[in-house]
Amino acid sequence: MRIYNLGSGSSGNCTYFKFDGYEFLVDVGFSYKEIKKRLASIGVDILDIKTIFITHGHSDHNRALQTFKKRNKPISINPPHIGRAFSLNHSVPCKGFTFEVHEIEDEKIGYLTDTGYVPPFAVHALERCSILIVESNHNEEILFTNKYAEDSRMPASIYDNIVSKKGHLSNRQAEELISFVRPKIVALAHLSAHNNNEQQLKHSGHLILQQNEVTKIIDTEEEESI
Ligand SMILES: [Zn+2]
Ligand SMILES: [Zn+2]
Repeated sequence: MRIYNLGSGSSGNCTYFKFDGYEFLVDVGFSYKEIKKRLASIGVDILDIKTIFITHGHSDHNRALQTFKKRNKPISINPPHIGRAFSLNHSVPCKGFTFEVHEIEDEKIGYLTDTGYVPPFAVHALERCSILIVESNHNEEILFTNKYAEDSRMPASIYDNIVSKKGHLSNRQAEELISFVRPKIVALAHLSAHNNNEQQLKHSGHLILQQNEVTKIIDTEEEESI
């Protein structure tokens, strides 16, 4: 099993998965060229990608979708025999996914970003996940401090959208979900560059997905080759 995050955050989201003979991406929120480069850095040829899961229609998640449809024919989008979708609560229709893995021992992967809260049926879908990739967008205190700061970079309405039920998950909401699901591996995704504190998150012991860095979540093939 191999899982690599190729980048995460408002500038783009893309995660590579390989298990049980399947190989696919969840979200393609960078340019095709950029995804090609990042896949090459982990030894994957972009033309081998024939399956993509898309969470929703924002460009930080689907930027390269049309190019994939043209160049990686035939491409399968959100195939239900590989992953199950559940609905989230965002400004546009948005899905999270779970994937059952049987390769070595049974694992279950959960993936959710871009939701204002975790709806009850999503919590149910994520039960027994051993690997969880979850949005941890902002620290509520930092966000409110930034909102009322004199040199605030964004209009107050943008801050209100982030914390709304159709916005993004805070660190606190992510932690609540993690303590309920209790996965072995947790990767925190879609971190805000302005409204979060990475140092604090590092102390929580979870893997942090950087905006512009390829990050290994798990790679059992690599462990075998050592
Ligand atoms: Zn997003
Ligand atoms: Zn979005």
